[in-house]
Amino acid sequence: MDIHRASPLEPDQGTMAGMAHLVTQRVVDFLAALDDRPTHVTTAPEAEARLTESFLSGPPENGAPLESLMDRLGEAAGNAIESAGPRLMAASPGGGLYSSALAEFYTRALNRYGTLAAASPALTALEEGVLRWMARDVCGLPPGGSGVLTTGGSTANLSALVTARHDRLGEDIGQGTLYVGEQAHYSVAKAARIAGIPQRHIRVIPVDGDLRMDLDAAAERIRADRAAGLRPFLLVATAGTTDTGAIDPLTDAGDLAAREELWFHVDAAYGGFFRLTARGRERTAGLERADSVTLDPHKALFLPFGTGALVVRDPARLHAAHEGSAPALQDVGASGVLPDYAGRGIELSRENRGVRVWLPLHLHGLSAFRAALDEKLDLAARLHRVLSADPRLDVPWRPELTAVAFAVRPESAGTAARRDAEAATLRLLDRINADGRAMVHSTTVAGRRLIRVCVLAHRTHGEHVDEVLDAIAAGTAAL
Ligand SMILES: *Cc1c(COP(=O)(O)O)cnc(C)c1O
Repeated sequence: MDIHRASPLEPDQGTMAGMAHLVTQRVVDFLAALDDRPTHVTTAPEAEARLTESFLSGPPENGAPLESLMDRLGEAAGNAIESAGPRLMAASPGGGLYSSALAEFYTRALNRYGTLAAASPALTALEEGVLRWMARDVCGLPPGGSGVLTTGGSTANLSALVTARHDRLGEDIGQGTLYVGEQAHYSVAKAARIAGIPQRHIRVIPVDGDLRMDLDAAAERIRADRAAGLRPFLLVATAGTTDTGAIDPLTDAGDLAAREELWFHVDAAYGGFFRLTARGRERTAGLERADSVTLDPHKALFLPFGTGALVVRDPARLHAAHEGSAPALQDVGASGVLPDYAGRGIELSRENRGVRVWLPLHLHGLSAFRAALDEKLDLAARLHRVLSADPRLDVPWRPELTAVAFAVRPESAGTAARRDAEAATLRLLDRINADGRAMVHSTTVAGRRLIRVCVLAHRTHGEHVDEVLDAIAAGTAAL
């Protein structure tokens, strides 16, 4: 017998093809039934307890058949919020493109080393091509812009923060202060803490009535800090806040940062890829002023979870903040024009992260993504229009992206009426979610509890939004 066939770790060709067929068939069956799956977790509590208990135990000495293990996985995956489906309109759903999952299977099976360019130059070029496209074509940064693919927006914000800190403060970080809008994602403050910037040096800048950072307030704070002997080093604007999709005044923020010699980072985890549409480009004008931009392909590029990006105007600065060297790597030379991503990010060993972005873009073409994003913008505009027409509801902000927040309108002025309306808003939220089909969440903006509907998954279409609108109308009528 072939020695390889004797090892269960090295299945023969027929076995491999059979394994892949079994798994892909499960996936295809799952996706075929996805449209009607409830979004809420429907597993009974006892069944969930049994399931979690079974998965908390360790592996057996001898293996089990793939089919029975896939049955177990199917049960585990079924015990979940339906984050691949069309009716998840809470948080930032992305859906997860099938083509990207296949790309991932391919690169994982070939297991190319994704960190040092010399280990797989052409695949590194592929990843670099994806990054240059994001930097130049998507964000409008000048030629030379590139970056690093990360595991998400939070790690991209962390690398941006470390780069800004290193570039503007060097080693002496004790007096550094940074400026970020009140509506920014919490990962910015988390990144600052990890990067050694104490909470007391994070300046949270108030926002205006449209939830955009008040740049006069920021400028004043920067001046006061400088006068007090501190060292302002970073301005963080948001292109699409998570709660409402508000976009900070990017051009003016870029001007302020330039005037004050601050690093200008834009967190465009939500809004960045909407620049593939005309409306998105217009609404995020000024993004091209950024020194660095966070993007999240697992949001508005619909990729499966686990892919973010940080793109920068000057990759040398990113590299300066992240480089290192190790004797074990000394034989792997630099590859000239191609970057070693170990020097641009936090990680060393990792997969090639470009293929999972590249394959969907090349297979479907940009037009497919533009159309899908335009559809989501249209759907959010429809939500806003219909909800605004209901006199019982208050819809404070026209959506710049695809998140619409609303609340039950108080019947009169005064604290008691406001409290009643807030209680009614929470009852309405429960009613929208009651049948388990769609899922929306509440959020708190400027001290106010609101229901937030976010249309972002590629599988979410008009009929799904109509279903939610019907549930809102029924819930409002029953208040
Ligand atoms: C989602 C989001 C993040 C965090 O991204 P993860 O990929 O979840 O880590 C950061 N900023 C904004 C504006 C976001 O919407």
